[in-house]
Amino acid sequence: MKIEGFRLKRPDEIEKMRAAGRVLGACLAHLAATTRPGLRVIDLDREAETFIRDHHCIPGFIGYNGFPNSLCVSINEQVVHGIPGERVIEDGDLVSLDCGLTLDGWWADSGLSLCAGSPDPEVARLLEVTEEALRRGIDAARPGGFIGDIGNAVQSYVESCGFSVVRQYVGHGIGRNMHESPQVPNFGKPGTGNLIKPGLVIAIEPMVNAGRPETRVLADDWTVVTADGLRSCYFEHTVAVTAAGPEILTLRPELARVEE
Ligand code: MG
Ligand code: MG
Repeated sequence: MKIEGFRLKRPDEIEKMRAAGRVLGACLAHLAATTRPGLRVIDLDREAETFIRDHHCIPGFIGYNGFPNSLCVSINEQVVHGIPGERVIEDGDLVSLDCGLTLDGWWADSGLSLCAGSPDPEVARLLEVTEEALRRGIDAARPGGFIGDIGNAVQSYVESCGFSVVRQYVGHGIGRNMHESPQVPNFGKPGTGNLIKPGLVIAIEPMVNAGRPETRVLADDWTVVTADGLRSCYFEHTVAVTAAGPEILTLRPELARVEE
């Protein structure tokens, strides 16, 4: 990985990404509150698209490399990039929601996993560990550190908990494009990769498997599943590095505040 190839964002650009991130955080809070057993996955996608357009943003995923919807929904052994369809969410399903949008051409990319209905203890643990892995990854995104510090923070925590991190899909720089350099893997060695500086904006997105790290892609050419068929969990935030440290641009507000 080289230090060249990405541009640090100016404060006025980060301000625009903050605005995009706020809408996406609110959208995901709404989707999380909406997700329940009995709902069709396509209905979640429609909720996402309506919310995004109502807030004067553009759904980013529709048409991105041919993706047909506004939202990726990945259930149980599906890791990421699940295409919304007629499938009905069942009690106990581990549901991962990944969404992206643009506002005035600036991207935000974020997602979360949750259990629809009543979680079994194994799912609850996977959710807890993955969210904590993201928190640790974000905390490592500090000026003077390295991209490898982020991956190391995620990987070392996840593996100490007995789970594994996906290698084939990684976080990324983000700005006028959803995917910019540098890549932000969920594994790595401290002190390696790009130097982290104020103005770096990245999407950090640990994908954590209950079993082995290997994945494969289904015949729809999109849906990524675990090779061993065990469950997978995912959380993602768009994060701006400032002189003071990492700032999450896609924080999810309490739903009550969203609907004010
Ligand atoms: Mg995403
Ligand atoms: Mg992403």
